[in-house]
Amino acid sequence: GSISRFSTAAVVEEPIVPPVQIAYTQHLINGQFVDAASGKTFPTYDPRTGEVIAYVAEGDAEDINRAVAAARKAFDEGPWPKMTPYERSLILFRFADLVEKHSDELAALETWDNGKPFEQASKSELPMLARLFRYYAGWADKIHGLTVPADSSHHVQILHEPIGVAGQIIPWNFPLIMFAWKVGPALACGNTIVLKTAEQTPLTALYAAKLFHEAGLPPGVLNIVSGYGPTAGAALASHMDVDKIAFTGSTDTGKIVLELAAKSNLKPVTLELGGKSPFIVCEDADIDQAVELAHFALFFNQGQCCCAGSRTYVHERVYDEFIEKAKARAMRRVVGDPFKNGVEQGPQIDSEQFEKVLRYIRSGIESKATLECGGERLGSKGYFIQPTVFSNVHDDMLIAKDEIFGPVQSILMFKDLNEVIRRANATRYGLAAGVFTRNMDTANTLTRALRAGTVWVNCFDVFDAAIPFGGYKMSGIGREKSIYSLNNYLQVKAVVTPLKNPAWL
Ligand code: NAD
Repeated sequence: GSISRFSTAAVVEEPIVPPVQIAYTQHLINGQFVDAASGKTFPTYDPRTGEVIAYVAEGDAEDINRAVAAARKAFDEGPWPKMTPYERSLILFRFADLVEKHSDELAALETWDNGKPFEQASKSELPMLARLFRYYAGWADKIHGLTVPADSSHHVQILHEPIGVAGQIIPWNFPLIMFAWKVGPALACGNTIVLKTAEQTPLTALYAAKLFHEAGLPPGVLNIVSGYGPTAGAALASHMDVDKIAFTGSTDTGKIVLELAAKSNLKPVTLELGGKSPFIVCEDADIDQAVELAHFALFFNQGQCCCAGSRTYVHERVYDEFIEKAKARAMRRVVGDPFKNGVEQGPQIDSEQFEKVLRYIRSGIESKATLECGGERLGSKGYFIQPTVFSNVHDDMLIAKDEIFGPVQSILMFKDLNEVIRRANATRYGLAAGVFTRNMDTANTLTRALRAGTVWVNCFDVFDAAIPFGGYKMSGIGREKSIYSLNNYLQVKAVVTPLKNPAWL
């Protein structure tokens, strides 16, 4: 019946040829593209077809050693931390200009490697990439310490210094945006970097790092190593010469990274992890707007967002209307070749995630949630999944508890505010929340009561470089973007000198 309707747009028989060539597949260490020490490579795939796009240098502990040595030298001997903040700022600005100049190539590579709609990459993510780097370029020459009148006989300066070599491990869902959230603040504060990309999406960070060198970044300041987590990633997290580690990905891997950091040199760790964010629709909400934004909150980026609104709580008085409209919206979702204009949803990232999402859909059906639409793969190749809506979902079902990371909306009913607060907070996660109401008192109550790092009111997924992002509870440690991200990359040094003439304090 109705379920087969979205299949027509989705079948990728003849994938559109991406308008870009793959130029860089080696590690970028000390300003040079180099093969893996072992000579090994690994494949990266086109999620539209499952075919290999390119073979990329496969890093392991030895490549991480080489990259850390280059970053160490660029930090300890300079020039990066010793350059004037203004010079650093100009390089970040020039990089943002080059991002704009090469926006089409970067967006095409991102779509090819990740499967996200090209329109989303080119019209939203690439402008955001430039914005993020200009934001941090603006900070580079405005980071400074304090002086403190401690007592009458000492002058106290508090210096804010770069922390040193930053190790950064990023995921595959927003490869370039995650690159920016990590690299931007680290460079603005004068650190050097070894960044390990996700094995599913190694291509765009190499391209971006090449542009950074064109913008005048000295060799050794930004080193990119491709490879797998348990080898290259673990070597970085446990390296004795790495002064700080920042990670985005799953909560389970975040725990491993924290443990590796603790067992090696106690390097400080920031983590941006998973979520199971509630999206609460009150009875007085603008229902059409809430339906549209709940749809966006869940299905955006193929459902592969750490902050996805993946528990849609709807008040009982508007529940039936909401489900009808949410289902109709999902049925209209355009799934297909992400290079095609007008396509809203491409394939999932890889076969592993594809299978995992389908397993969660089967679990939803088995636990007796009502499958309103979707539930199956689309087409016969690649990793396309029908936009799927479950109603009659209960808090104890697996689909209401686990991060699915796919195009599966779960709708739950609630009766009153205290109940929905309790249920929304009854999760180990605390990344984000959405609140839909026209009543200011209800909004104020919910925004204060919800235990989450971001609460969007009558909107969702509004991001800006100046807005902090991060999690409560098991969604992470620390904040990225905004003024709060700078502290992750700074050391604080107190310098105390005697005052010879206390009267002039
Ligand atoms: P992951 O956490 O395993 O991978 C993220 C990054 O960590 C990758 O670069 C990976 O190579 C690296 N990594 C993996 N094991 C490591 C280790 N032992 N030491 C150091 N680094 C390691 O995520 P995944 O397996 O790609 O996806 C699994 C689930 O994670 C997804 O289904 C989703 O629920 C969640 N996820 C969350 C985000 C997010 O933005 N918070 C992003 C991607 C995935």
